[in-house]
Amino acid sequence: MIAFKTLCFGTALVLTTLLAGCPEESSESDSHAQTSGVVRAWFDTHARPQDDLYRAANGHWLDREAARADDGAAHGGDNADERSTQRLRAIFEDPSRKLKTSTPSLQRARDFYASYLDRAAIERRGSRSLEPVFARIDAMRDARDIAAVFSYLDSLDIPVPVANQFFTHPDDAGHPRWASRIIDRGSLFLPDESSANAQSVDALRTRTTDYIRKMLNLSGDAGAAAHAADVVDFEAALSRIQSAPRSSEDRPESDRRFTPTELRALAPRFDWDAYFEENGTSGKTASVFVEHPDYIRALDMLLGQVSLDALKAHLKFKTIEQYADALPEAVRNTRIQFKLRGGDTSPDMSRLHAAIETTGRYFPLAVGREYAARHFTAERKAHARATAEQLRKAYRDRVSKADWLDAEARKQALTLVDTVVFSLGYPDAWGDDPAHAVVRDDALGNLLRANHSHHDAWAVKLGTRADLTERDSVTPHAVEAVYIPDTHTIAISAAFIEHWVSSLDNDDATRYGGLGVVLGHELSHAFDPGASWFTDHRNWSEATLAHYRARNDRLTHYYEKLEALPGIQVDGALTLAENFADVAGVQAAYDAYVMSAGAAQARVIDGLTGPQRFFYAYAQMHRSQTNTYDAIESAESDSHAPKRVRVNAVARTMSSFHDAFSVVPRDAMYLPPNERIVIW
Ligand SMILES: [Zn+2]
Repeated sequence: MIAFKTLCFGTALVLTTLLAGCPEESSESDSHAQTSGVVRAWFDTHARPQDDLYRAANGHWLDREAARADDGAAHGGDNADERSTQRLRAIFEDPSRKLKTSTPSLQRARDFYASYLDRAAIERRGSRSLEPVFARIDAMRDARDIAAVFSYLDSLDIPVPVANQFFTHPDDAGHPRWASRIIDRGSLFLPDESSANAQSVDALRTRTTDYIRKMLNLSGDAGAAAHAADVVDFEAALSRIQSAPRSSEDRPESDRRFTPTELRALAPRFDWDAYFEENGTSGKTASVFVEHPDYIRALDMLLGQVSLDALKAHLKFKTIEQYADALPEAVRNTRIQFKLRGGDTSPDMSRLHAAIETTGRYFPLAVGREYAARHFTAERKAHARATAEQLRKAYRDRVSKADWLDAEARKQALTLVDTVVFSLGYPDAWGDDPAHAVVRDDALGNLLRANHSHHDAWAVKLGTRADLTERDSVTPHAVEAVYIPDTHTIAISAAFIEHWVSSLDNDDATRYGGLGVVLGHELSHAFDPGASWFTDHRNWSEATLAHYRARNDRLTHYYEKLEALPGIQVDGALTLAENFADVAGVQAAYDAYVMSAGAAQARVIDGLTGPQRFFYAYAQMHRSQTNTYDAIESAESDSHAPKRVRVNAVARTMSSFHDAFSVVPRDAMYLPPNERIVIW
């Protein structure tokens, strides 16, 4: 069971540093921001914005962080996730008189957290709480049992070959409803024997077998050695069918909907009735989505071939692996060592970090409420909201005037602009987290109960209309800014706004250069080349379609001429959707600023005019420093261009940037007017 959310802005980092010292708020670095919110101390005063806006705005900061980045601390002292983590730790450890909200759920969250760090109790209890789970696995006799056990384990968040994901999907009338889709949750991804060199496959297989044997052994399996070999065979077979070409994915997701009868035709050996009865979703919807029908068909065959014993060992191994954080140190360490040797540079090293992250995830509302009460005032939320409404107006204006849209495309686009839901800082209304028993010295039991009750809370909703409070789905303490297409919602959390947006309160220019840009970027994702607005273009004229494609082609060519790193070009196709969102988003945010500030644009603050502050705030929000290894990896696989490229490439497309800094043809940032790209 996984809730569906895609991160598309900002940084998703796994924190590897052990948090040390007292849980009090660290003194905030760089708090010497001046009145506008632009931090002059970060400038490189030898660089000119006309030649390199990103460097001019961030040069001093970049040099300072470079040394730390190569030491392995991803974002040094400027790590948003780390700050949020420290604040959460204070919420869990502060004496209760310091709490600003005292809901029963928050108390349970604090107990849950305490149990996670109670090493002695974890060692003492061992894997006892998993006994009922193992008993269910051991009792499997036939196809019906197998399907039911898959479903049961899935509700405990254990990765099984047939998993269920809850999400919202518009019904025929366009209202979002809770729906479910069948997904696969991966294998250990042993490489396909035919495609890798035999020696490394053998080495990986040996290492993996050894790992599985140790894990099974630690769970008390007397036949661990034989079982480990079976599990590896099954994992390899799973990985083969998961990586096989999938012709069914050519069809849009809305065509991959299956009624119970169609499911039985797709996978006749799998007992779908038992699966849906077990997880409480039977009969709640007329059909379910299937992410990869070809995979399910192949899995059905595979399940007919695997022995019951091998399947049992596989499921037990998956169970132990998933719950390793709440199991004795020997289990946890075995998993960490395996991941480290597999080249994973950032496995969760500290139990403390796991405790903080997990508690924040299982009690998002109680913890988020306390976080918001401490760190994000209602006034800030109102400011964010006002910025969003102004951005909506500016975006509407651009879409209304875009001469290449035909009537139908324009109508659809305006509807999307008018109806997008802004979920900013913290939710408008507070619900409560699913209630499950929390026992102060039973981390493993707490985690099992938490997963089960979260699953049940989703299952109850299946088929019903998603209401506005649910759509208001931002988690205050998660550092995230996302566009969620299913609910047409833009969620930007308190932790994100605070860290990445330099100013909400002081100056329009920095407010729109920061938060306005993020809002514009996320809203533009509703129109990017992967969005349903474009993919369902059935009623558009040929001319509009051609214009849209031409704009994207221009963007692709424009970016692929730029260097991500010396000698490595930006992948124009891979980064197209994000570049589209950047260009359209910043341009709309600038309009929103102009509409809002009017004549006040001319006012000089911190030695900068309004338009200059807009662009500096934009560039500083994107400040980023990574080590060389990560930078190369990102250039090859990240759907975003590097931050330096994002900032400079977008600014160059804008005449307002040229005007703001009097950019002329001999400057490096200059782009002739006929080469500047406008989406709307
Ligand atoms: Zn994005």
